[in-house]
Parts: sequence; C-alpha cells; structure tokens
Amino acid sequence: MKLYNSLSRTLEEFVPIDPRLVKMYTCGPTVYGYAHIGNLRTYIFEDILQKGLEYLGYRVERCMNITDVGHLTSDSDTGEDKMEKGARLEGKTVYEIADFYTKAFFQDMELLNIKKPEIISKASDNIDIYIQMIEKMIRDGYAYFSNGNVYFDISKADHYYQLSGKKAEDLIVGFRESVEEDQYKKNPADFVLWFTLSKFENHIMKWDSPWGKGYPGWHIECSGIASKYLGEYLDIHCGGVDNIFPHHTNEIAQSEAYFGHKWCNYWCHGAHLNDQSGKMSKSKGDTLTLTKLQSDGYTPLAYRYFCLNSHYRSQLVFSEEAMKIAQNSLNKLRGRVLNLSQEGSILETQFKFYVEQFKMAFENDINTSQMLTVVYDVLKDDEINDPTKYKLIESFDQVLSLDLTVSMDQDLSPELESEILQKIEERNLAKKNRDFNRADQIRDELLARGIRLVDTREKTLYEIDR
Ligand code: AMP
Ligand code: ZN
Repeated sequence: MKLYNSLSRTLEEFVPIDPRLVKMYTCGPTVYGYAHIGNLRTYIFEDILQKGLEYLGYRVERCMNITDVGHLTSDSDTGEDKMEKGARLEGKTVYEIADFYTKAFFQDMELLNIKKPEIISKASDNIDIYIQMIEKMIRDGYAYFSNGNVYFDISKADHYYQLSGKKAEDLIVGFRESVEEDQYKKNPADFVLWFTLSKFENHIMKWDSPWGKGYPGWHIECSGIASKYLGEYLDIHCGGVDNIFPHHTNEIAQSEAYFGHKWCNYWCHGAHLNDQSGKMSKSKGDTLTLTKLQSDGYTPLAYRYFCLNSHYRSQLVFSEEAMKIAQNSLNKLRGRVLNLSQEGSILETQFKFYVEQFKMAFENDINTSQMLTVVYDVLKDDEINDPTKYKLIESFDQVLSLDLTVSMDQDLSPELESEILQKIEERNLAKKNRDFNRADQIRDELLARGIRLVDTREKTLYEIDR
C-alpha cells in the first residue's frame, strides 16, 4: 500500500512494525463546542484509512484523545483556555461543557458511520503519565523549569523542523509578530509542558504536580495518551494539516525525547474543508455543523459521500450546490443497489477481480473517488449478475460505510410502513394527474417526519433518518 507520509513528503510503501497489528493514533476533538463539518471531514478520512487497512486484512488498534483541558485559544502559550472560555460563555462548569460536547461529537460520529476508536481517553484522565514524561524529560535535559512553568527546550530535539519544513528563522519572526515574547523561554519556539502560571486567572482544571498546582500543555496530552495505550512505537499518526505545526511537531519532539528513539513512522494529514469565504474554524463561531446540514434536509451519509468524492489531501470547498448533487447521487446509488436481486449464485472470478480493483484504489494513497468509481463500474458491468453486484457492493460498504445495502425500511412498524406506501401511492397519482404541488406537499410532509422519498427509475423508495 502506498501512503503519503508528511514526514518525508513522499508516497511511501506502508509497512507496519508488526505485520498483524497496525497502531494508529488520531488526534481527537477539543470539546468546547460542536464539531464543524471540516473537523468531521478529517474523522471521515481517518475512518476510511482504518477500515481500508482492515479490509486489506490488518488488525488496527486506533486510539483517540478527547481534549478537555489545556487547549489554549491561540497556538501561543498564552490566552484563555478554550474549554474555560466555553464554560464561561455558557454559564456551565468545564466538566459539564466537556461532557455535553463529547456526547454530541460521538452522536455525529455515529450518524456518519464512523467506527468508534478502540481506545478513547480524556486528556484530564491521564495527568499521571504527563507528569511521568515531563519528569524524565527534565532529568534528561530536554525540559526546564522557568518562572513557574515547565518548557520543552526545542534546541535539544534532533529534527525539530523536519515535519513542518519550517526554518528556525521563520519561527522567530513569526513569534515576534504574533505573540508577546515570553522572556522565560530559552528559545522562542519552546513550548509549555506544564503550566502553574496562567495568564488567565482562576483556571479551574488544576492538578498537583512536582512543579506546583497546574495543568498540562496541549501537546503533551497526545504524546502521553499515545504512549500509555499504544506503547513506544506508532505506525500511523493522523490529523488535519493544521496540526502539523506546532501540535504534531511538538508531539514528535516530546515523545522522541522521552523514548530516546524514533516514535512514529507514518504521518498522515487530511487537507481542510473550507467554506466559500475561506477557512472553516471552530473559533469563528458561525460554523457549519452536521445538525445544520440535517436541518437543511441533507442526510449525514450524503456528507460522507460528498467527502469521499475528493482525495483527502486535496482541499475541498463546501457549497450547497455540491451538497445537493451529493445527496441526489447517493439517493440514486442506493436506489440502484436496492433494486438488485439477491437471488442466484455469485460469480467468483468477477467477484475477486472487482475486490482487487477496490483494494488497488485504496492502496493508491486512499483514493476514495476511485473506490466509488469501482462501485459504479460494478453496477454498469453487463457481464455480471445481480447477486454478484450486490455482494460486491455489500463488501465495499464495509469500508465506504454509506449504508448502500441497508434496507431503507428496517425497524419499521407495519402500520407506519403501510401508511408510507399509501402516501407514495397517493403521490404517484398526484404526479400522474400533473398535480405537482400536491406531490411535493406529500414528499415534504414525510420529510418533516424524517422519512425521505427516493425516486428511482423503477419505483419510489424511502429511507428513515436515524
Ligand atoms: P479540533 O477539535 O479543533 O482540535 O480539531 C479536530 C480535528 O479537525 C483535527 O484533526 C484538525 O486538524 C481538524 N480540522 C480542523 N479544521 C479543519 C477543517 N477546516 N477541515 C478539515 N479538518 C479540520
Ligand atoms: Zn493531538
């Protein structure tokens, strides 16, 4: 499998350390607000990577943190903590805020058919490991205590600029321009591992430490959680491109200082989803959420389909127009699959051929649009029978997770089912009589109840929003 590695900036052959088990770490959400659909694009890409590897036969152990402490407003080590700011704005405790948005995040993940990582851990549950790592880094000369905070000394890291490709001089200029210079640091890019002094008074989340009561920096959370649950070596570490610097750069510096060897072999970064005004970010406040898309009449899986149509390393611009096309295409695709007869025998040779095509598309640096093309190629192929097509698509959907073969009317009471069928009948009649207003009215009434009609060439199907 070829995978683009941000560390070498090349496509590399993917070879896990243990051929039976891939260890994968993915940075999780900062839970001070709803995830925006840009964040969700990154989680969809990570989900496809995990499921694709599983489809190839690997066992994957994926770990994800929940950042409920220590993520400051800016990338500098100053400013109000995002969690505490969120709590202040909503008049709740930080723990209530974290709990609420963590639940909301997992609801979004479920609606998008994203598999829950095998290991999920809250930043605030792992203080012991951060302290242990920081103590060792101080002992080994990688970190120092200065005026109340513990800093990482970036001049001690071997390849500090390798991942970001930045130059030391750029950083110095950047820091001078954007951040009040911290006179207690040895180097301008040194970052805080443990705060006991916060610019923000009354910081609520604090723990005892050898350096005084305080809280961890953001970067140490991921290094700590990854090492606690996945051990000394990682195969893959993922995140969005904005995480390359400083977050992942600092994770590498800390973890390699702590372990004394190379830590992670493949760094995979997803490009951003932008809105038409440019960047989509949580701190802007007016961001698009999955709930907003749903209230605009789109299904979560249509958003997943929209994402899969482009390559994870290409920037993607969100537009209503593109979303409408995605919804229609997915509806049509599901309609075509559900019209396939499942009776009959599977043509083994063709089955194997298309599975190979699908795997090859994935192995080509997760080429999701090509993977979808294989689905359409299967449907178009006149040489193969319906049950083979159905089985192939069912198999691909283990990775795509678009519910392509999930019957749209599952878990339905017989009363509701017959009511919907009756409405469809009534709508067909209205259409026949060219009473399109009535036909649309029936469609919209059902939609308001979470029942979406899907017109296919043969008949009208329906699906229920979950
Ligand atoms: P956060 O909750 O802000 O820490 O972000 C969660 C994940 O979303 C991280 O992997 C980020 O790199 C990623 N991310 C942030 N903004 C975007 C965006 N506009 N498009 C895609 N991914 C993003
Ligand atoms: Zn992280």
